[in-house]
Amino acid sequence: DPMIRLEGVGKTYQDGTVAVHELDLDVGRGEMVTLVGPSGCGKSTTLKMINRLIEPTTGTISIDGSDVTDADPVKLRRNIGYVIQQVGLFPHQRIVNNVMTVPLLHGESKAFARERAMELLELVGLDPALHAERYPHQLSGGQRQRVGVARALAADPPVLLMDEPFGAVDPVVRGRLQEEFRRLQRELGKTVVMVTHDIDEAVRMGDRVAVFAEGGRLAQYDVPAAVLGSP
Ligand code: ADP
Ligand code: ADP
Repeated sequence: DPMIRLEGVGKTYQDGTVAVHELDLDVGRGEMVTLVGPSGCGKSTTLKMINRLIEPTTGTISIDGSDVTDADPVKLRRNIGYVIQQVGLFPHQRIVNNVMTVPLLHGESKAFARERAMELLELVGLDPALHAERYPHQLSGGQRQRVGVARALAADPPVLLMDEPFGAVDPVVRGRLQEEFRRLQRELGKTVVMVTHDIDEAVRMGDRVAVFAEGGRLAQYDVPAAVLGSP
């Protein structure tokens, strides 16, 4: 069974915009799939339907065999981490506290949450000794994105959804973040769906690449080599 399955999923917004059309997509356990294509072709809408920030107009979406519409949205989002381009860190909280928020919400003790946050900062390549007690504005854009990834991992969700997570990061740091994230994803066995408009990023990071086209249609869904090899 795939971890994520979309069948005949469509989304027409209230103003009549067809954002996604008849989409079928399977994502395996521990697989990383990238959604790529020009702006406005339904990638973000697709991602948001998976964690029910947006309700599909047609079709069904299941995670781990269960229909997401039957799930309690709060529980659902516990199982699904979500990282966006401009991660919204709490500006008046130290970095470690930003990462601790989720475990604390889940009822973990303060000591445990703090320890876990420190481990995660280390894991995403931020030396806790240097950065844990700083505030978000004291970090670079790339470092803030790492904090965003650490916070998403803090709940230890089996599924991570990422919308242009490295989009605002400068190109040099970006390459390193891509590589490090990929290593982490494999190591932790996370199932990931990542939106990007950058085809290089899509083929470099995806086990499979879903190429979206105008009108929210899926033009191709295949391994990177096949996507690169096609005209
Ligand atoms: P839904 O049917 O999913 O509830 P709506 O059509 O009601 O979505 O729109 C939700 C919100 O998004 C509205 O506040 C609307 O103004 C805003 N919105 C409308 N068009 C766009 C657009 N092209 N891109 C982003 N947001 C939009
Ligand atoms: P992408 O992520 O590929 O850039 P989106 O999923 O954001 O594409 O948008 C797909 C289409 O739906 C676009 O035409 C966009 O303008 C439209 N759209 C996005 N959100 C809304 C909304 N809330 N209301 C109406 N139209 C929307």
